[in-house]
Amino acid sequence: MAERLPETGASWPEIEAAMAEAGTSDVDWRGGRIAVYAHFAGDEVWDVAKRASQMFFSENGLGPAAFPSLARFEREVVAMTIGLMRGGAEAIGTMTSGGTESIFLAVKSARDWARAERPRRGTPKIVAPSSAHPAFNKAAHYLGLEVVRVPIQSDYRADVGAMARAVDPDTIMLVGSAPAFPHGLVDPIPALSDLASERGLWLHVDACVGGYFLPFAREPGQTLPDFDFALPGVASISADLHKFGFTAKGASTVLYADERRFRHQAYEFTDWPRGRYFTQRFAGTRPGGPIAAAWAVMKHLGAAGYRDIVRRILVVRRALERGVSELDLEVIGRPEGPLLAYGSPRIDVAGLAAGLRGPGWVRSPPQPPPRIHIMLTIPHEPVVGGYLGDIQAVLPRFPASAGRAAMAPVQY
Ligand SMILES: *Cc1c(COP(=O)(O)O)cnc(C)c1O
Repeated sequence: MAERLPETGASWPEIEAAMAEAGTSDVDWRGGRIAVYAHFAGDEVWDVAKRASQMFFSENGLGPAAFPSLARFEREVVAMTIGLMRGGAEAIGTMTSGGTESIFLAVKSARDWARAERPRRGTPKIVAPSSAHPAFNKAAHYLGLEVVRVPIQSDYRADVGAMARAVDPDTIMLVGSAPAFPHGLVDPIPALSDLASERGLWLHVDACVGGYFLPFAREPGQTLPDFDFALPGVASISADLHKFGFTAKGASTVLYADERRFRHQAYEFTDWPRGRYFTQRFAGTRPGGPIAAAWAVMKHLGAAGYRDIVRRILVVRRALERGVSELDLEVIGRPEGPLLAYGSPRIDVAGLAAGLRGPGWVRSPPQPPPRIHIMLTIPHEPVVGGYLGDIQAVLPRFPASAGRAAMAPVQY
């Protein structure tokens, strides 16, 4: 039955109580019980993001002339991010509402760039590894492009040779992830950059997860090939502030190597009675909160703050990798970022994932081949030992033969 707008309103205390009640069945992200959706770097950072967001709660990023504050925050967030991505003096970009919008805009820019500079007859194509985020297909769906997904290699990274063979005269764009969401592994971006340069293609690097993480993970013992504008073939990069930038949700960046590519991102319309309508992004009205929070958190943390958080998350990831291996489970590949996936052909992974819900661990649903997917932030630091203990406790109940039927898709 549809809920109706109440005739008379309620007081804030009543509403607050009702909302708190509604929230009691939500997952305990602060307690590290879930490893996706919430990215938390501690109360201090959280407080900065919330306060900054509230300060610019009513301002609107659609009007940079009316709100030069937001225009400046955005310019500086983009400039700081270009620095992290080692962009040259020509590099340029904007904030967006999230990774999906960043990818949408990069695909739109690539499409219109190809139309202008290298017209083709067929439907324009994107060649992407099978591990690339669904946002590329979503963008292609809206924008009238086709995505060719090429199976990843046995090391779970993009197969650049196979991608090269999938390129045809209608291909305009290549995709690589840094890292890809399913396994947390960075694709061979240097080889993709070479391929893009040789064939005159647009390479987009999806650094939605790694953009604000990997630049701080370049430390001894952590081999990390280039994935950014240090490579000449990289045309655009998406990096999510609201993941490992630890800012408020509703914030990402999309960056371009130069203005010649960026100019295709904008949309302009004049044929109505209100004059010129010009936007750089998909959204019209843009909440000031996420823009202000992004600026505030980046200024608050600084490089040293990010480095410290990244180091802590890497310690957690290594502890988890070690612990999982000691339980005779396998971590997929050699993750470089804050993400990993583990499983084993010797156990019923779906059963294990379900079994871990008993002690309260909510983990991403296993995929074929079955594995458990974990994206780590600071709340996992104190609970990694307990998590491994619970795996050890429930594991004997899930040998490989037991109930593959338990593999019902779970959505959360
Ligand atoms: C999260 C994510 C996206 C999409 O970002 P949203 O902020 O959810 O729209 C794209 N690519 C990767 C690799 C991601 O992890």
